[in-house]
Amino acid sequence: MKVALIGVGQAGGKVVERLTEFDAEMGFNAVQGTLAINSATADLQSLEWAETQLIGADRVNGHGVGGDNELGAEIMQSDIQEVLGALDGHVTSRAEAIVVVAGLGGGTGSGGSPVLVHNLKQVYDVPVYALGILPGRNEGSLYQANAGRSLKTIVREADSTILVDNDAWHEQGESVEAGFASINQQIAQRFGLLFASGEAVEGVGESVVDSSEVINTLRNGGIAALGYAKAAASEDSTQNIRSVMSVTRQALLTGTSLPEARVGEGALLVIAGRPASIPRKGVEKSRRWLEDETQSMQVRGGDFPLESDQIAALVLLGGVERSDRIESFLERARAAQKAEDESEKADPADHFADDRLDNLF
Ligand code: GDP
Repeated sequence: MKVALIGVGQAGGKVVERLTEFDAEMGFNAVQGTLAINSATADLQSLEWAETQLIGADRVNGHGVGGDNELGAEIMQSDIQEVLGALDGHVTSRAEAIVVVAGLGGGTGSGGSPVLVHNLKQVYDVPVYALGILPGRNEGSLYQANAGRSLKTIVREADSTILVDNDAWHEQGESVEAGFASINQQIAQRFGLLFASGEAVEGVGESVVDSSEVINTLRNGGIAALGYAKAAASEDSTQNIRSVMSVTRQALLTGTSLPEARVGEGALLVIAGRPASIPRKGVEKSRRWLEDETQSMQVRGGDFPLESDQIAALVLLGGVERSDRIESFLERARAAQKAEDESEKADPADHFADDRLDNLF
């Protein structure tokens, strides 16, 4: 699936960079253009692989919006003509989808990405997807509240919203910064493979996955999650049957971008590897397993022929909005918004309300 990538805010910019770099390194050529949009000049300067567009210069003078996502939304709307102009060269007639990437908990990406998606939908005929990053549990209440409002709006606007939970692919014991770098790398590999599936030129055959399978899996909108796992390929086909089944299970159960999102409306199973090491029997069994486990109405499937000593499974699961993970996130976001509202309403004088201290007059 050929995609145009647009990163909004700091996380959005860093993730589209990694994705573009991965696509180039692998020679997939699925990424047709990359634009990073931000209100903070410094965040844009560190990017090498994306073209950049500064927004809100008249309001924040290149210093960013802090955690104010309402301001993020406003400046995206005020500068939307410049942004659409900057996109002209990027969304070529070859792009089959536009993917807007943002951390939903911050300011520029959180507020700006739903506004951008809304405007893109009016201009382009191809699907507009959001790749949203949810704050981890330990991030503060402003992040949770911002992400709740942003998610609600972006799900309404986008053709589908694929979520990555910052707690999902994060390795134990890493600093926050190192953690982000490794999560971004994992996002790049997994989404890079997903976009490139359907672009395969080697060994094109009946079982090869097509871009339309990705688009059809996301057709019902709502929220989707992406899972991934890999194992070494073997000379022995019985072993490869077992490996295909085991990577499929791991992709859904432990390798997903949204932990505990296991039940959905539709799924796509892509098995990547050398055509000779992808056994039909293993793929069919895995699809049936996925159908039962996810209770999906339809599980699509296909191969992604790739010169590799490994067998990998990608599981794209659509319609996961009713999952426990989303429910518990929304509860966290509602509680955080209530706390934010209350602290805004609080009158500093209330702090001195009791009479243990006398007023001076
Ligand atoms: P913005 O620049 O105002 O849009 O704010 P950020 O992009 O920094 O958004 C903050 C949210 O994104 C928080 O929930 C962070 O945890 C998350 N975040 C920031 N940088 C990264 C990153 O490089 N990778 C990932 N995965 N998340 C990030």
